[in-house]
Order: sequence, then structure tokens, then C-alpha cells
Amino acid sequence: CSCPCKCTHWPKGMAFSLEERLQLGIHGLLPPCFINQDVQLLRVLKNYDMKRDDLDRYVFLMGLQDRNEKLFYRVLLSDVERFMPIIYTPTVGLACQQYGLIFRKPRGLFITIHDRGHIASVLQNWPEKDIRAVCVTDGERILGLGDLGCYGMGIPVGKLALYTACGGMPPQQCLPVMLDVGTDNETLLKDPLYIGLRHKRVRGQAYDDLLDEFMKAVSDRYGMDCLIQFEDFANVNAFRLLTKYRNQYCTFNDDIQGTAAVAVAGLLAALRITKSKMCDHTIVFQGAGEAAMGIAELITMAMEKEGLAKDECLKKIWMVDSKGLIVKGRDHLTHEKERFAHDHPHMKKLEDVIQELKPTAIIGVAAVAGAFSEQIIRDMASFNERPIIFALSNPTSKAECTAEQCYTLTEGRGIFASGSPFDPVTLPDGRMFYPGQGNNAYIFPGVGLGITACAIQHVTEEIFLTAAEALAHLVTEKDLAEGRLYPPLSSIRDVSLKLAVKIMEYAYEHNLATLRPEPSDKQAHIHSLCYSTDYDEFVVDSYRWPEDSMVVQSCKL
Ligand code: NAD
Repeated sequence: CSCPCKCTHWPKGMAFSLEERLQLGIHGLLPPCFINQDVQLLRVLKNYDMKRDDLDRYVFLMGLQDRNEKLFYRVLLSDVERFMPIIYTPTVGLACQQYGLIFRKPRGLFITIHDRGHIASVLQNWPEKDIRAVCVTDGERILGLGDLGCYGMGIPVGKLALYTACGGMPPQQCLPVMLDVGTDNETLLKDPLYIGLRHKRVRGQAYDDLLDEFMKAVSDRYGMDCLIQFEDFANVNAFRLLTKYRNQYCTFNDDIQGTAAVAVAGLLAALRITKSKMCDHTIVFQGAGEAAMGIAELITMAMEKEGLAKDECLKKIWMVDSKGLIVKGRDHLTHEKERFAHDHPHMKKLEDVIQELKPTAIIGVAAVAGAFSEQIIRDMASFNERPIIFALSNPTSKAECTAEQCYTLTEGRGIFASGSPFDPVTLPDGRMFYPGQGNNAYIFPGVGLGITACAIQHVTEEIFLTAAEALAHLVTEKDLAEGRLYPPLSSIRDVSLKLAVKIMEYAYEHNLATLRPEPSDKQAHIHSLCYSTDYDEFVVDSYRWPEDSMVVQSCKL
């Protein structure tokens, strides 16, 4: 670290002025030239271009985050679309798999099952006191990669980097947490480079006690309005913990609720093309896990808002899991699946289900590559003038169909969205389509910013519907004409700020906000909270630092 105060938030390398260098006692410790942030950006980008592969690019960017945080975010903001797939999916998945190998410096807080009874004191070790957002995982279901144990720390680190890059939340207010309860991944248990606890996952009461203590300790230390985002927990814990904590703490599960909002935003944008209401649709899900349940729940809310009775809404949604169509009386029905089980003969094959139910929309979230066969896509095009086909499974290799298959087989009538990015498609007649990517990053940074900006203490489902509606509203007619169901990723910072304003408005209208007095200009309030990548000035007599700050202390040394 080139910073004299050894603090990761303030260094600026050769951008220190002569006056700063003299006052901070670092004159001579830097080359004599003064280089501003614009030139530093150029240097980083040139180095970045020389990296061999995406994992090298990830390691390079993480190194920059450690050395010069402001420059790191300046780089991300210079081209969010380019860097997002490196600091987040898909590269972060690769990075998690290799976390022991690429480990340089710890980032985030590691709490283990053996810390039960003293989590509060572990939190005291974290140097920042004003934490507004925590992202936590136990590493059991990292993306589509399964149990990566402690290597899963890359996920909260990456998500929170997006809170700052996309939502403008100051990085020092964000805390990534790994709850290490062990791993059932035998390969990792034998890996000499593994950084986590070397035993099988602890489950049952001890696990629940750890979670209970963690939630309480975080809320006690940082306040009841400190947002706790759950990320990449296994299916069974994800639903259970959400139900347990949602009315007790300020918390949400991004895999369930964030996914729901981004998918419903895509559907709401699609309705502008089909000129129909949500309750006019019959929707079939391929998959009945976290993503499917979250999306289905929010769709029913959107239908209810249009005036349809809850029971009627549920009837419009069908699900297919690994055992086939979910129907009443079938085996292997969890509590969540029961709600979408209808009176109907059981059917095994998705093709048959589609033929039988003739849905207007199909949503793939089972990570079964190619599940939307040619037959299914052609059938959808024969039943519907504008069939809605969402292939949301990640990574790209798991997608239910490609954008090209959808547009070609429906002769350009298909309304398509995917989980992973697809290149634009040109049909033989010359028409060009830009497939929409239902990236959760459209939702959670803006939602997080809105929640923390007005100190909401409980994250209701309506907040996600509000976010979905706001996101769909930001899609222009031109976007829709080109096949895009989401605004361009390059505008994500602006999107997040607009979502945050909408959430604040909603929160004050519905008595969810605890920040008083209510800011009259919510946009200005949100802007005032946002992180700036401009360097701070370190000149002591233009006084900015409190007497006990590390800069002032280091100047005295
Ligand atoms: P999950 O493990 O909770 O659920 C997977 C579901 O698929 C289960 O219900 C399982 O029964 C079902 N399934 C498995 N094999 C099947 C088969 N052969 N036929 C039908 N169903 C089958 O996982 P999840 O969190 O719901 O994620 C599922 C997929 O959705 C992943 O690929 C994930 O990357 C993707 N996803 C995308 C987004 C997004 O695009 N924004 C967000 C979240 C998840």
C-alpha cells in the first residue's frame, strides 16, 4: 500500500500533490511526476488489455481494489458492461473455484460455526462502524457450481462491488460476510490450498443458532436498518431463512426476490409489446426452485394488482420440475411447490406439457441446457402471435435455448430474455434483434440504495414489485422495437438511482421508511449519499479530517 496512513480507502498513488506529499511526509517515496486519475485510468486499461484471460483480469482488478479503491471504481464505471462479467458472473464463478490459488489478501469478514457465542466480538474487529449493507453467504450453492464452502466469499465481495459501481453505495458502508460451517465438497476438503474449515457442513440446530446469533449481532451493532442480503444459500435454507427473518430484520434473498423482480420487469416490458395484462397470460416454468418460486410469487402479486383473485392468479402458473408437471397429489411436493400444484393428470415431458397447456409464456430456470427444444419453440409460435420465451438459466451453456434459436424459429415474433448475455441476432430478412439480459444487477443495487437511503427496516415483497415496475418503465419504445426488454447495461447507474427514488417514494407512502424528516427532494438526497470516485484532498490545513483520523495521526508521526 502506497498510502502513508495504511488505509485502503484513501490512497491515490502518484496523484498526491506536492503539498500533500510534504504534509504527509511521503515526499521522495513516490516518483517525482504527478499523474492525475485520468492518466491512471489509461494505465490500468492498457495493463488490463495485456492480460491473457478473464481469471487474470479478475485477479488484476481485485489487486487494484486493494491498492486504490477509488481508481478501481473509476475503472468499473468507465465501462460497466465490459467489467461486470469479470467482477461478477460468469468470471466470479471461476474465481470462486480457484479462490485458494488466487488468494492474495483477505477481503470481507469470515465467521465460522466455531464462533458461536462471540459473533458480536468478531464484528467488533471489522474496522468500519457505519455499515449499511451486508451481503452474506454460506457458500453451499455458488451460482450453478454447487458447494464451494469458504471459496464462496468471492460472491459477496463481487455483489457488494456492484452495490458501489451500479448503485453508488460507498464501499466502506458495505460488508461481505462468509459464514463458514464447513463444506461437503470432498475435493476442497482434500485441497491443500483450501482456505476454509476442513470438515463436513454442520447442519441442524447448531447451524440455526449460528444464523440467529449472526442476524442479531449485525442488527445490534449496525442498527435494525442495516440491510442483510442473503446470497447463494442452498434451496432448503434459502426459503426457510427468508421466511424466518423477513419480518424480524431488514433482509432479502437475491436469488429468490432479486431474480423475481428482474424477471417480472422483463414480463412487464413484454406486456407493452403484446398489449395485454399480466392476468391474460398462462405461464409455464421449467424448474421449481428458488428462482421459479420467487418469480411466480411476484407474478401473482402483479396479477392481483390488476384485480384478479389470488386463487385465480395461482391457476395461471404451472411448474415442471425434475419429476415432471407439478400436480395435486404428486410425490416430492415441498410446501412451496404445493401452492402451484393444480388438478391435472401428471405429465412427464415438457413438450407434452406445452402442447397440453398452450401457454403464452415459458420461463426456463432449471439449468437444463436446450430444454426449450425446436418443437417447443415452434409450438409456442403457433399458439401465440408474440410468444414470450425466457431462457434464464446460467451460465450460457445452461440456457434453455439461444437467442438465435428463439428468433429464428419464431420468425422474429418471439419475445426473448436470457440470464446470460447473448450477441445480437440478424435474421435472413435483415431484421436485427438485441436480446434482453435479465441480470439481477438491474435490481439489487438500486433496491439496496433505496432501502438504506430511507432506513427501511423490513423489506416487503411490494418493494420488489415497485422495483420491477420502475425498471420496466425505463425501457423505451426504441428498446422494445429492437427486442430489448431492459435498458442498456451501460445506463445501469442511472437505472439504480431511479429505482432507489421510486422505492423511497413507496416507502414513505406506506410508512416503511424510518428516516425523519422525510427528504423533500429524494433524488437529491440519494445523490448526496452516493460515492464519488474523485480523490479526496489530504491537505491538513484545508481541514477536512477529524483530529483522531488516521491521516491526521499519521501526519503527526
Ligand atoms: P434451484 O436449485 O433452486 O432450482 C432448480 C430447479 O430445477 C429445481 O426445482 C429442480 O427440481 C429443477 N430441475 C432440475 N432438473 C430438472 C429437469 N430435468 N427438468 C425440470 N426441472 C428440473 O436453482 P435456482 O436458484 O432456481 O436457479 C436455477 C437456474 O436459474 C440457474 O441456472 C440459475 O443460474 C438461473 N438463475 C438466473 C437468474 C437470472 O437470470 N437473473 C437469477 C437466478 C437464477
